[in-house]
Amino acid sequence: MVDKQILIIYTGGTIGMQKTESGYLPISGFRSVIEEKLHPPAGSVLPEYDLLELEHIIDSANLVPQNWNNIAAAVIDNYEKYDGFIVLHGTDTMAYSASMLSFILSGSDKPVIFTGSQIPLIEPRSDAQENLCNALMIAAYHPVPEVTVFFHGKLFRGNRSTKSKSTGLDAFESPNYPWLGQAGPQIEIHTELVWPEQPKHFSNPEFSKHSVAILPIYPGLDAGLVNSILESSHLDGLIIQSYGVGNLPDQNQQLIDSLRSAAESGCIILNISQCLQAEVFHGHYACSAELNEIGIISGANMTTEAAYTKLIFLLACGLPREDIQIRLSESLVGEVDH
Ligand code: ASP
Repeated sequence: MVDKQILIIYTGGTIGMQKTESGYLPISGFRSVIEEKLHPPAGSVLPEYDLLELEHIIDSANLVPQNWNNIAAAVIDNYEKYDGFIVLHGTDTMAYSASMLSFILSGSDKPVIFTGSQIPLIEPRSDAQENLCNALMIAAYHPVPEVTVFFHGKLFRGNRSTKSKSTGLDAFESPNYPWLGQAGPQIEIHTELVWPEQPKHFSNPEFSKHSVAILPIYPGLDAGLVNSILESSHLDGLIIQSYGVGNLPDQNQQLIDSLRSAAESGCIILNISQCLQAEVFHGHYACSAELNEIGIISGANMTTEAAYTKLIFLLACGLPREDIQIRLSESLVGEVDH
């Protein structure tokens, strides 16, 4: 077998954390931890890898959009040199980063696998060893040429993944798309589910200029509150997390009027469901019949993470509003079924 060379990009997260008096903190100098703790599973050899530790390692709860530029740059700058990439990332926002990287690295013909752990690599009983070894083996010997998340034995499409458990070791799910592979006694990849090869089109736009908010709908939501957010922050985009198949409280006329006037003044509004297994159909119930006419776009079965990152990616690319609306309604990199 020809030797494969993998780049591991360490961004922080529990995998590289240590307990301190104030709680778990990511520590720099992950190289020595990985050298000491990472061992190949019995009877196998790990592929060759280099480790790149980002300058500012973080608890991923502190992730901001500019971090995506840094992670993407680490992949793009080294793209020709390596056969695949592992991104070590905190679990809290891993699904956001994997979703965003799938848009930035559109058409990648190399694997980019996000992984991390619920227990630090330096601690006994850590799940990091298993996650990282499997991710390395997949990247080198079973490469899936798209951005994925590997966690607790399963490989998910990155932009379909979501963190569903705060402490369980099986912390991730892909509620609206089957997983792409699994690592049991053998590693198996369901190649028919892998996103087909597309022309390579990387774009790593600056993420500083646009504001997008996420609005969960709940009983008793005060339209005045929504209005003040919409008016004071001049949103470029709004993701609504609606009930069921995209339902809004249409008897809350003030809310509907606020959404209508936000849409008229250029805010792009995308409607996704708060259900984990999601599907949005405007007009299935009368209470969502007006939404198409207002100009609200159905996000179909996108996760919150994919919807949010897709919208800010398209805004940051500087596309005209109409183009963004069209792209939101279609699949760019396998993130949605319409
Ligand atoms: N707070 C941590 C992080 O997201 C949680 C984890 O990595 O599991 O960085």
